[in-house]
Amino acid sequence: MIHLDPAILSRVMKPARYTGHELNSVMKPHETVAVTFALAFPDVYEVGMSYLGYKILYSILNKRTDTAAERVFAPWVDMEQEMRQAKIPLFSHETFTPLAEFDLVGFTLQYEMSYTNILNMLDLGGIPLLTKDRKQGQPFVVAGGPGVYNVEPLADFFDFVIVGEGEEIIEEIVDTYKCWREAGEQGGRKEFLLAVSKISGIYVPSFYDVTYETNGTIHSVSSNEPTAPAIVHKRIVKDLESISYPVKPIVPYTEIVHDRIMLELFRGCTRGCRFCQAGILYRPVRERTVDTLVKIARQQVDATGYNEISLTSLSSADYSKLPELIDRLTAELKDDRVSVSLPSLRIDSFSIELAQKVQQVRKSGLTFAPEAGTQRLRDVINKGVTEENLIEAVGAAFRSGWTSVKLYFMIGLPTETDEDIEGIADLAQRVVKLFSEIRGRRGVKVTVSVSSFVPKAHTAFQWFGQDSLEELERKQHYLRSLIKDKSIAYHYHDARVSVLEGVFARGDRRLGEVLLKAWRAGAKFDSWSEHFHYEIWQQAFIDCKIDPAFYAHRDRDLMEVLPWEYVSPAVTKKYLAKEYREAVAGAFTSDCRTDVCGVCGVCQQLNAAVIDWSDSL
Ligand code: SF4
Repeated sequence: MIHLDPAILSRVMKPARYTGHELNSVMKPHETVAVTFALAFPDVYEVGMSYLGYKILYSILNKRTDTAAERVFAPWVDMEQEMRQAKIPLFSHETFTPLAEFDLVGFTLQYEMSYTNILNMLDLGGIPLLTKDRKQGQPFVVAGGPGVYNVEPLADFFDFVIVGEGEEIIEEIVDTYKCWREAGEQGGRKEFLLAVSKISGIYVPSFYDVTYETNGTIHSVSSNEPTAPAIVHKRIVKDLESISYPVKPIVPYTEIVHDRIMLELFRGCTRGCRFCQAGILYRPVRERTVDTLVKIARQQVDATGYNEISLTSLSSADYSKLPELIDRLTAELKDDRVSVSLPSLRIDSFSIELAQKVQQVRKSGLTFAPEAGTQRLRDVINKGVTEENLIEAVGAAFRSGWTSVKLYFMIGLPTETDEDIEGIADLAQRVVKLFSEIRGRRGVKVTVSVSSFVPKAHTAFQWFGQDSLEELERKQHYLRSLIKDKSIAYHYHDARVSVLEGVFARGDRRLGEVLLKAWRAGAKFDSWSEHFHYEIWQQAFIDCKIDPAFYAHRDRDLMEVLPWEYVSPAVTKKYLAKEYREAVAGAFTSDCRTDVCGVCGVCQQLNAAVIDWSDSL
């Protein structure tokens, strides 16, 4: 157990990031359990504490009397410096146990720019970075989360990977580990990996060999263990009603990014936006019932004292019983002064009725995501919304009293021209005009937030090259020149970060060396602008003789073997290729939730089905 000198805490920013002992945290003496599991988040406390999946696994593991699950976060740079100076290894928040003393260390991969933090945390925790260097008695290092759908750039660092929804698999891993330990760790680490690889949804990167063509593309991927599956398909919870939900989330002592109760209405989204990886990874749609959600909300409010509930999902307004849910939550919680917020809204799901219902409880800011500035490009990405939808939705909001809206767009989408960029400025201007028409005065605030498109694995756009850095920056500046109205604020992201994300999102195993080099040269917290050093990455690519453009900007042939094909969200490549062709043709694919099944493959492969309560009374 680590003893933290208060003098250290007095010298760092936000010491509450490191002190633990929050309400609802679970501390178990390690000598009373058979398995210890560190849930590691490769970013700071206030970011990691905001992720729902992390809370779910913490709750499931700690319900077992034989297992202790504890949290570990990346220390901020000031704390890291103090720890390295005082030779304090990275430790858990519950029992202040060094990372290297856990049996299993699980990282969640939420975004590519956190990858160097994983290496930094392993190093700070005294765990060898490379799987091949880990010995008997050292932890197994595991990954989960959306990043596992192309985990190849991290293949050398993870002993195994959980593909799909962790709550479905995590207990099987613990049971397998216990068996192996009770059998005296027979056969060493390899034997455990062989056993765990037999669990459906587990991918062991070292059990696969990759060969390359002379042009740098992949020739083949083959398993070097006879029992390793040719393709690892994701696991999912088929019915969310059948699993428990974390009703006693930890309440932090310091403000965190999402400092409120998160109520997950459903998983999945079958709208079919062609750029969206989450829409593919989390299929099919599975809703919770209103009764269950109200019950969970009540328990969470009682256990935490929070006064805000955020209705979270990929597209919360698509919850089939949303008006009823808001009415029931409002009635249930009216004496507790708890507000309800909707974090993301699709334009066409929004209605005057909904605007008024949300307004009843709290008038939070409204965000809409048209994504592209013209109908032509919205058809290419299968957004399925029109300018009229936006105007109607924003108009409803203005009539209900809102005075500010945020509009999300992407630039660099496949087939984009300058006309599409001009469309963004025109749309924002039309919203400003709409406010004056409805309210008879000026005073609206329209925020145009623009990100650069990053093609992702397992999407219809996985074959498209990303725009070059120069082109993305040119488009950013062009849009700036078009926005003249003072009511419109314009924000855009650093395109260099987007390009780097583009490299790792569709990278292969050879990039592990680049990650190592960049981390050794000081890269960490790359998603934090003040710590992003593009020149470190440029040098790392040069040192490794790897051309980042090969990964980010190259169009792929539909026949090319892709590095991530062996870990599958169970949507077929054939379906994605069909969507790719329809994107080029600007053809619309309807939502299987309201229309016929488009045979994307997931329900067939996983023997699952869409669960939607719209027809229930
Ligand atoms: S298999 Fe059919 S019903 Fe299931 S998610 Fe895919 S398109 Fe929808």
